[in-house]
Amino acid sequence: MQHPGAPNAEVLTLLEREFGADLLTAPEAVEARSRDDSGLCLPPAAVLLARSEAQVARLLTLANEHLFAVVPRGAGTGLAGGCLAETGGVVLDMTAMNRIIAIDSDSVTATVEPGVLTGDLRRAARAQGLFYPPDPASLDTSTIGGNAATNAGGPACVKYGTTRDYVLGLTAVLPTGEVIQAGTATRKGVVGYDLTRLLVGSEGTLGVITRLTLKLLPHPARQQCLAAIYPDLGAAMRAIISVMTRGHLPAAMEFLDARCLKLVGDLLPEHVKHKVSGGREALVLIESDGGAEETAREAASIEAICRELGALAIIPAPDDEAREAVWKVRRSVSTRIHESCAVYIPEDIAVPIGRIAEMVGALPAVEERFGIDIYAFGHAGDGNIHLNLTAPDEAARPRVEQAAEECVRLALSLGGTMSGEHGVGMAKRHLLPLEIAPASLKVQRGIKRLLDPNNILNPGKLFPGEE
Ligand SMILES: Cc1cc2nc3c(=O)[nH]c(=O)nc-3n(C[C@H](O)[C@H](O)[C@H](O)COP(=O)(O)OP(=O)(O)OC[C@H]3O[C@@H](n4cnc5c(N)ncnc54)[C@H](O)[C@@H]3O)c2cc1C
Repeated sequence: MQHPGAPNAEVLTLLEREFGADLLTAPEAVEARSRDDSGLCLPPAAVLLARSEAQVARLLTLANEHLFAVVPRGAGTGLAGGCLAETGGVVLDMTAMNRIIAIDSDSVTATVEPGVLTGDLRRAARAQGLFYPPDPASLDTSTIGGNAATNAGGPACVKYGTTRDYVLGLTAVLPTGEVIQAGTATRKGVVGYDLTRLLVGSEGTLGVITRLTLKLLPHPARQQCLAAIYPDLGAAMRAIISVMTRGHLPAAMEFLDARCLKLVGDLLPEHVKHKVSGGREALVLIESDGGAEETAREAASIEAICRELGALAIIPAPDDEAREAVWKVRRSVSTRIHESCAVYIPEDIAVPIGRIAEMVGALPAVEERFGIDIYAFGHAGDGNIHLNLTAPDEAARPRVEQAAEECVRLALSLGGTMSGEHGVGMAKRHLLPLEIAPASLKVQRGIKRLLDPNNILNPGKLFPGEE
């Protein structure tokens, strides 16, 4: 498949006439949409700040007529370069379509435009006693449209699932410019192929999402957590598995390896700091939620299991203030890693939970072989490990990239996947054939060709090379 690029000068003039002030070509507007959080920088020819579905449909129709690339974009917090205009082309910025159209407390659903920030939806639902569980760490900066396109997850996945589990239905503009409704407004529905689940997670390659109907839940009456320090990661994982096999399904089960713990150890309460020697200690964070009494009971039982499994220290967080302090330790890790190294490649492999310790245990050999540092933290409850591969200077980048591939191969050999939540985009597409067999890849390329015969929507993303 050819990869269309930028519109020529004549077509750009046509787009300016068509979209007026909503077509942005000023250098600062273009520069602002040249990057995401992958570290890549690829400027588009122009940006359409979409204000309606009709504009989205018109742009895609014109892209087919004049063969230029269109790249959907939410807030640009993606870590895989998915929203970047690699071949030039027009970035379709969806952030101005940001209305919460309705929160229906009788049906326990929300209807939103794609540019709504995840945190804003969670707060609006909360105000009505309702709960939108998906909680990517970027929730205050990323959009629901971007979350749906990448099937974003977060700590709550272990109990509540990912974004995909909350999208009941959606409206999308197909690459041809046709508008489709997929899914339902109901909690069940089995009519026809499940196009909703196909579009969710398709990273802006099969359609532009312009409206979503989302499932909500009643908000839990109480949320309570604890952190526990273990002598090493193996002991920490044994505690996690014990909690799950003794009848508990916590709302989050997170972990930090020794390197991460060293980086954020200053945020631990004073009485715990001396338990961290800077050796091999690891931290787990376990959250419970639900009815007030049952949550308190579950938290007490989990604390007892953590002690029994050899915790060196426990930090209980029974109220909102203590809970925030504990979550701050976990959430500060990525920023601190990012700030502390010149080269930083974020991988987010997932392995079966019983093999997390094995995966993390294999990392020192990778570090030694490639002369780099790897920080491991993430979602112990669902096996999704954020591996941050780092080096102090740019010259080491090729070695960091080789080590990243080695980590992906390792995860796959343990029955895992190369990405639990960040997606493939540009950053990982060269590795796709390691995970997806040729027959499956052929079906996937066929779906892309069927929906996007001229390959104008986000060309080149997901798939390695040209066919
Ligand atoms: C500090 C930090 C923490 C993060 N934590 C998490 C985490 O815990 N879990 C997690 O899953 N991710 C996490 N991420 C990654 C990122 O926030 C998610 O991938 C998020 O879903 C991207 O949303 P966005 O609005 O920024 O989308 P963008 O980055 O703008 O786009 C992402 C992809 O979605 C497509 N897209 C965007 N909007 C639409 C639309 N309306 N229709 C069709 N396609 C569209 C784009 O083409 C692109 O392929 C984190 C990122 C950062 C920087």
